[in-house]
Amino acid sequence: MDNVFQVAINTLNHAGKIGRIDKRVMEILQAPKRIQEFRIPLKLENGGFKVFPAYRVHYCDALGPCRNGTRIRPNLTLDEIKALGLFMTIKHCAAAIPAGGAKGGIQADPAELTTNDMERLVRAFVRSLSPKGPWADVPGADIGTGEQAMAWMLDEYEQITGTHCPAAINDKPAILGGSLGGEEATGRGVFITLKAAAEDMGLALSKSTAVVQGFGQVGSALAGLLHAAGARIVAVSDVFGGVRNTQGIDITALKTHVAETGKVVGFPGTDPVTNADLFGLNCDIIVPAAVQSVIHKGNAADVKAKLIVEGANGPVTTEADEILAAKGVAIVPDVVANSGGATVCHFERTQGLSDQYWDLKTVNAMLEKRILAAYRDAAETARAHEGSTLRIGTWISALKKIEKAMQLRGWV
Ligand code: NAD
Repeated sequence: MDNVFQVAINTLNHAGKIGRIDKRVMEILQAPKRIQEFRIPLKLENGGFKVFPAYRVHYCDALGPCRNGTRIRPNLTLDEIKALGLFMTIKHCAAAIPAGGAKGGIQADPAELTTNDMERLVRAFVRSLSPKGPWADVPGADIGTGEQAMAWMLDEYEQITGTHCPAAINDKPAILGGSLGGEEATGRGVFITLKAAAEDMGLALSKSTAVVQGFGQVGSALAGLLHAAGARIVAVSDVFGGVRNTQGIDITALKTHVAETGKVVGFPGTDPVTNADLFGLNCDIIVPAAVQSVIHKGNAADVKAKLIVEGANGPVTTEADEILAAKGVAIVPDVVANSGGATVCHFERTQGLSDQYWDLKTVNAMLEKRILAAYRDAAETARAHEGSTLRIGTWISALKKIEKAMQLRGWV
């Protein structure tokens, strides 16, 4: 499988070349500014013992404090965290958020840990980070972490510092200073950009068909909104496999089925489909909303959709990107499409720092305005640079902001 950090660096360098970004800026961005790498020993509740590798990457802080993302999964690698740190850097720029990009993670299988083990693991993660607060580094959630993990992280931070500081941790529950709309924000943002791109292509959602990979926080929220907008979702998959129905899948009923069984497979009225066959199905729109590098040189030529909207980070490899561009498939890149979570994290921080909390209508309206502006900016930059796609347009626009900030700071 393609190395996701190499994929991110390929995109970075391609955009840097087309956008004529200062070579010194490009040199700085070839690697993270700072990497913390440590190991967390844990006495497990079942009497066992394990040492978990863990990382925190500050990719670039030219535009502000490093923020977001803590991933916990069994095969996690440092390269994956570096790639995600770079994506966060670009994503914050694209969404006009004055923040740097960071990502952290623990190589562990949440399914093998008890709740008690998980709590002690994430608390130890915070202690190992020696966190410096909201103006230096703000961890948030990612795959394998959710509101509960972030509540434990916030509590650990506050126990260490002896202060209350909701802005020190993102993606926490609303009752502890989190934002309303946070959980659905990324899926909602994917939907808003998908709708805008479909309109630009003259594709009516009510007459279109879609395939969604991943039915977790992002995929299920996106699928729900897409279904409500009248699109026919003809296949959905998760890590265990997929289901299909050319007449369309009832997403509300599928959510209930997943809540009861833990997987999409076996949903009544559907036929099985594998993740390997998913992207070759007949449909207008594909939303990969699971993991990276799932559309690659081995399956890109099979894609029949006209539009791909990247809910996941880095789902399309460099070679696949080229194959799809040659086929005329439009792609709304991850750094725009899934920036809704980062945007609402920014709202969460603003609310925490000011101690003023907003209603859901305000959060959603501001999210829509901001993510549409990011999408339009990317499209405009792409148009202004011959031969560039929406992905390259987004990266050029972001790199120009980073270049300016580095020049003003006197780094280059
Ligand atoms: P999640 O853990 O809630 O859900 C992940 C889903 O993907 C699950 O349905 C899982 O079964 C499925 N999946 C996992 N591995 C798979 C595989 N190999 N093949 C097919 N399906 C697989 O995660 P999430 O929060 O929904 O995140 C999904 C993606 O979106 C990730 O790439 C994440 O980095 C990205 N993302 C998430 C957010 C957010 O706010 N949650 C923000 C930006 C980007």
